[in-house]
Amino acid sequence: MIDNNFKNEKAPRNLGLYIHIPFCRTKCLYCDFCSFVSRDEQQREAYVGALLREIEARGTKDYSVDTVYFGGGTPSLLSAEQIGRILGEIKESFNVSPDAEITLECNPMTVSDGDKYFKELRALGVNRLSLGVQSAVDGELKLIGRRHSFEDAKATFLAARGAGFENISVDLMLGIPSQTLDSLRASANQVIKLAADHISIYSLQLEEGTPLYRMRERYSLADDDTAADMYELVVKMMKDAGYRHYEISNFARGGRESKHNCKYWRLDEYLGLGLAAHSDFGGKRLENTRDMERYLGGEWLEAASDISNSEREFEFLMLGFRTADGISKSEFLARFGVGFDEKYGEKMEKFKKMGYFCEKGDALALTESGFEVSNAILTEILDFDY
Ligand code: SF4
Repeated sequence: MIDNNFKNEKAPRNLGLYIHIPFCRTKCLYCDFCSFVSRDEQQREAYVGALLREIEARGTKDYSVDTVYFGGGTPSLLSAEQIGRILGEIKESFNVSPDAEITLECNPMTVSDGDKYFKELRALGVNRLSLGVQSAVDGELKLIGRRHSFEDAKATFLAARGAGFENISVDLMLGIPSQTLDSLRASANQVIKLAADHISIYSLQLEEGTPLYRMRERYSLADDDTAADMYELVVKMMKDAGYRHYEISNFARGGRESKHNCKYWRLDEYLGLGLAAHSDFGGKRLENTRDMERYLGGEWLEAASDISNSEREFEFLMLGFRTADGISKSEFLARFGVGFDEKYGEKMEKFKKMGYFCEKGDALALTESGFEVSNAILTEILDFDY
């Protein structure tokens, strides 16, 4: 029988928790995430109350929670006391592993007394921060509607470091209007100088409905060739600086790979709590409501669906090939009941010959040059329209 939810039965059942905090101080021009501008402390407090009720209702002691990720929105808009109450409820309702990775996304300018706030977060057990820096060029930050300067971001980073955060991730954006290879090089250099432990790169996407999309005629945006050059430049700079390129868009130093995000790429189970949060839990895909009124009223679940075997297989390959470790052929066989080579071997041959894949024992992974053309390769192998 095919095991759609492959698990090594000897391993403890681990679980990641994603906690969505949908508030932002202002809305960035490119953002289509589920987030609202909130200056209303009462609304935030009501949301925290609803979140606590959801955590309690969905709690289970059947798993060991090894990652908790506060994402958004801007979780750092919540007070340390509110974060503490949420973590307290998580610890009441779930078994949280003592060495769980607990991450909080943070935006510069949302933390007024950084030293105190970060010390309080550390005392609560938050041990990883993800800081939205995006660029070290203030003009570029302005163009995408970020309200902080690079100096603000740097000050926030240093305050967190000073408060004892030894694991800080920084986001860097590629393809910002007016960004050039030189300005990107300057931004990447600044991030490397900060000695961030982890760096995530994102290509700016023009999402319909966002202000930046409406203004798209006004700006010159990177064409495909420039975007590819930007990616190549950043990858080289990060690798030269000693970062491991462990996933297409992520780099880590000193073993600081994001444990939580690795769950998504490995199809491990996670439970999303809060407005619009998604889960992959108990063999089902669950989707929370995006309607704040309903959420505050205690109706969090919007949709639940089974995950078909073909969907699982597609995800397993699409997400697994994003990572430097690639996929395990024996796991593929155990999950889907067919050998990887038997099913895809013929299509793979030419890409292997072109140097886009490498095999290490049971593992099959894209090479660095394969990462650069991964969309085209996976489109052909998996036979879908990207
Ligand atoms: S801070 Fe993040 S979630 Fe908030 S508006 Fe900007 S990009 Fe969107």
